[in-house]
Amino acid sequence: MTIQEKLLKHLRNIPDFPKPGIQFKDITPVLNNPELFRETMDELAAKAGVLNPTRIAAIESRGFIFGSILADRLGLGFVPIRKPGKLPYKTYRAEYLLEYGTDGIEMHIDAVGKEDRVLLVDDVLATGGTISAAVDLVRQAGAEIAGILFLVELSFLGGRSKVGSIPCVSLISL
Ligand code: AMP
Repeated sequence: MTIQEKLLKHLRNIPDFPKPGIQFKDITPVLNNPELFRETMDELAAKAGVLNPTRIAAIESRGFIFGSILADRLGLGFVPIRKPGKLPYKTYRAEYLLEYGTDGIEMHIDAVGKEDRVLLVDDVLATGGTISAAVDLVRQAGAEIAGILFLVELSFLGGRSKVGSIPCVSLISL
């Protein structure tokens, strides 16, 4: 079985969560399967390596799970991108529209610099609002985007169009 087939088998669809009409893709069965979790990280690390990043930045909270392991695997620094008010130091801020609401995200102003090629990581690409705000944050800091990695892409929502020509890789596309 390919990694894509295994991921499809272990992704759990939760209808109407957290709001009516949303088909929530629950990745926790992947995390709870040690072989598949490791194989998923192997695959993400292989895809990340060729993009030559200097830092890994991930979006709270599920992005942290994959992003921090990836940073450790590649021997790179990890940068948390968080919901407003969570980071203790001075931050850049960007607003975004979620599939189920609106919000903002923040990143410490000294987390990445002009010399960096930042790889962004999250679990699911839906409308693309969150990831385009994360791209905005990294650019506010003057850094380059090396690429973007997702476990799952909900291609029917067209989120990929929001990131333009940035290399954008997802392990599975639904
Ligand atoms: P978006 O900004 O619409 O691309 O939404 C992406 C963010 O919201 C990611 O951080 C996802 O974890 C979460 N998300 C949005 N839609 C879903 C969904 N259907 N299933 C799971 N997570 C989702």
